[in-house]
Amino acid sequence: MFKKILVANRGEIALRIQRACRELGVKAVMVYSEADRDAKYVRLAEEAVCIGPAPSALSYLNMPAIISAAEVTDAEAIHPGYGFLSENADFAERVEKSGFQFIGPTPENIRTMGDKVSAKQAMIKAGVPCVPGSEGELPDNPAEVRRIAKSVGYPVIIKAAGGGGGRGMRVVHTEAALINAVQMTKAEAQAAFGNPAVYMEKFLQNPRHVEIQILADKHKNAVYLGERDCSMQRRHQKVIEEAPAPGIPRKAIEKIGERCTAACRRIGYRGAGTFEFLYENGEFYFIEMNTRVQVEHPVTELITGVDIVRTQIQVAAGEKLPFKQSDIQIRGHAIECRVNAEDPYKFIPSPGRITLWHAPGGPGVRVDSHVYHNYFVPPNYDSMIGKIIVHGDTREQALARMRTALAETVVEGINTNIPLHRELMVDAKFMAGGTNIHYLEEWLSHHKR
Ligand code: ADP
Repeated sequence: MFKKILVANRGEIALRIQRACRELGVKAVMVYSEADRDAKYVRLAEEAVCIGPAPSALSYLNMPAIISAAEVTDAEAIHPGYGFLSENADFAERVEKSGFQFIGPTPENIRTMGDKVSAKQAMIKAGVPCVPGSEGELPDNPAEVRRIAKSVGYPVIIKAAGGGGGRGMRVVHTEAALINAVQMTKAEAQAAFGNPAVYMEKFLQNPRHVEIQILADKHKNAVYLGERDCSMQRRHQKVIEEAPAPGIPRKAIEKIGERCTAACRRIGYRGAGTFEFLYENGEFYFIEMNTRVQVEHPVTELITGVDIVRTQIQVAAGEKLPFKQSDIQIRGHAIECRVNAEDPYKFIPSPGRITLWHAPGGPGVRVDSHVYHNYFVPPNYDSMIGKIIVHGDTREQALARMRTALAETVVEGINTNIPLHRELMVDAKFMAGGTNIHYLEEWLSHHKR
């Protein structure tokens, strides 16, 4: 096992990784920008290094600063968390070339999966079912693009090969709108991701977002930890996640889970990863793979009892997975609400000082958050300030626990989306389970405040 790990991230995930290190008896070096000097995990840290000013480009995305922080502190490995540099193959490569272990997959695997076109091609080869669409990147010739769209069938969605975070996607309903939409998505993709390549998929009308969590080691062992339903989204961004996915037969999950682990073994994947699918009419369609720990990993931890972050560190150190597929049992139901510092209905970010923070507790309640009473939420980063996660024997019990937890939560000084979560937890359709990816936006359009 490593003696010391550098945590190259901020916010709740930095704290989550610090906790895993503590449990393993590994020292954690925390890095922080000037805006995060007062973060909880920095205050709790045995060692912390300032890596630059508030803007991410100068700190959390600053590769030389992060690598020198690892050098001066004698860390042996770097955990990238999620977001920032976590899916940057060049970073993973630089980390390894500088003599550190990157806690994640190989740069090669990150590169293949980071490009959604090459990821889909790899999945087709591995026998994982994909959304029907263009075979690869869309060509420049408009007539050719129109021909592909016709064969895929409208509506189609144009997606950036390098896209992420729900950006770089455009739905097209008619041929008349096609070429213009492709041009616009290409221009946006170039500006946002530095890569103008786009591809086309059939736009599925009423799918659910269901994803499979996997863990793999360096010895070609791979295990899936069941699924998560992340259909409650706004602007393609997840708001509520749960596990298991309501109403999907276990057999269907087992079948797709086995495909995913087979794909991992085939490409020599190591670490944690998520295969994201759209699920419609009983079928799974692969959309992308995330080669890192995800925000919603706790719901899987609660229903399987597996510590995903701890296992990430263990397999990065070369250890074998401490469990087999047959050891993985699904117990009960878990739900996660992402707590964002924003207006609950208008979604305007609401950074600032938290004048009162009272987190919930009780049986089956977990709060992953780096904030505290009197903490200042900096305006420079993502608005998520934490997650409330609950576990119950049944989905009904989990819902009841979430309602209780949300009722106990008090945050003053800034706006949060907790009032929205409270309403959704008593919404009849959500309570029934199985809402699709459009449900939340439709709900919001009927509940204007
Ligand atoms: P990102 O990497 O930006 O998260 P994804 O490819 O994972 O992009 O897609 C994010 C979300 O966009 C999905 O969860 C789904 O809501 C929607 N989406 C993506 N592809 C399709 C599609 N072919 N049909 C319908 N919705 C889609």
